[in-house]
Amino acid sequence: MEKQSQVVERLRSSFRSGMTIPEQFRRTQLTRLLSMIKDNEEQILNALHKDLAKPKFEAILSEIDIVINELHHAIANFKSWMQLEYVSKNLATKLDNCFVRREPLGVVLIIGPWNYPLQLLILPMVGAIAAGNCAIIKPSEVSAATDSLMAELIPKYLSQDCYAVVRGGAEETKALLQNRFDHIFYTGSQTVARSILQAASVHLTPVTLELGGKCPCFIYGRVNIEAAARRLVWAKFFNSGQSCVAPDYVLCSPAAQEALLPALRAALEDFYGKEPQTCPDLSRIVSSRHWTRLMDLLGKSSGKVVIGGESNEEDKYIAPTVVVDVAEDDALMEEEIFGPILPILTVDSLEKGIDLINRKEKPLALYVFSDESSVVNTVLEKTSSGGFCSNDGIVHMTLPSLPFGGVGASGWGSYHGRWGFETFSHRRACMLRGWALERLNSLRYPPYSEDKLSWLRWTTSAKNSCSLM
Ligand code: NAD
Repeated sequence: MEKQSQVVERLRSSFRSGMTIPEQFRRTQLTRLLSMIKDNEEQILNALHKDLAKPKFEAILSEIDIVINELHHAIANFKSWMQLEYVSKNLATKLDNCFVRREPLGVVLIIGPWNYPLQLLILPMVGAIAAGNCAIIKPSEVSAATDSLMAELIPKYLSQDCYAVVRGGAEETKALLQNRFDHIFYTGSQTVARSILQAASVHLTPVTLELGGKCPCFIYGRVNIEAAARRLVWAKFFNSGQSCVAPDYVLCSPAAQEALLPALRAALEDFYGKEPQTCPDLSRIVSSRHWTRLMDLLGKSSGKVVIGGESNEEDKYIAPTVVVDVAEDDALMEEEIFGPILPILTVDSLEKGIDLINRKEKPLALYVFSDESSVVNTVLEKTSSGGFCSNDGIVHMTLPSLPFGGVGASGWGSYHGRWGFETFSHRRACMLRGWALERLNSLRYPPYSEDKLSWLRWTTSAKNSCSLM
């Protein structure tokens, strides 16, 4: 079997040959990737069901269609993204050709997580291919069925000279990271992100980190509580809470909590029935290890379970669970929950809620539920987060025209649509000059004089900038 270093070298020599540069090559690969998803939809759905008991409905929405839409968007637009971007100039550079040229970075490494094992592997690939890179793809070993399906399908559809799947867990990934890459795109936990950064620092490799954190859902002021409960339940328990953008905890006033609880019970029963464990629309926890972590968190909490709480280890099942009387220092508030447990914290003013959010690391997403636009705008202005959505959860990330990514501890960099193309491109600053205007250019040569300096300052002044060409 080819060693990891040999795979990297093979891809590097393909990259150096320039084969990924032509627009037609990129278009063919993106089109083949689209065929890979479309031709194998059934197999993909089965793998996702094996890994997470993912309902077909959720799998189509959040794995298959999101990838298909991204591919259509990239195929339709990447030619325009590739165009040179002419920039404004000053008098001194008036006759020069000044532009930004998007160039591929080289051989990039994409490391995926297990919670959306197709989406979070293929979406970054779309950007990497569109931008003209070669790529090594490392799916998560935890979602074993999708990992193995990707390893089978990707080489069947895409150029094996330019794209390769490398499989394995932490040890294999650490070994892989010893190789030099031109970019590392990592999606996963903050803990592992630290070792990715250490490995990247050896080669000074730039990284994109798509991480997680605790996404708040702040319910405040006048609000349609039934609609809020339905949207909250959908966003939280979609994929059994194993979404990086799932609402992690709710913040609301004590009065809002009183109104919210019956609305949450009603929404949960409407969606998943009286016995959620028998409902086919609820995913399972990905592994026993992750199930145990969640049950431990719940066990350590001093809060009171008011909805759900039932679990079954063999079935890797945890009922949609709501916990109240949760303090800011509760176990459930210490780390990202990443499962079907929803703590509710009460605050008695908008400012106190904002302060609580701002005491924590900047989240990947922030949700505000309110009929009052002044409440929505105040939270938007006084906080920071990767993404922001009012009166709903998760849906902001489905638009390829919006950048997706964190800020601070929730991640570095972004992707989706053009943003993914940019992440995997180097923006090369180009100035093509001729020999004209030598007298003007001579102003900068010694012997220096006050006269030359004032002319030079005038010709290079931003006030004398000229538009584009
Ligand atoms: P993880 O960090 O355990 O694993 C992700 C990848 O890292 C896997 O491919 C795994 O094989 C590899 N890996 C594991 N240990 C490693 C090590 N020591 N060195 C190198 N590589 C290693 O993450 P996860 O449990 O798969 O995902 C859960 C986390 O990911 C959550 O925090 C969640 O919020 C975050 N997440 C973020 C996004 C996003 O888009 N921002 C999306 C999904 C998940």
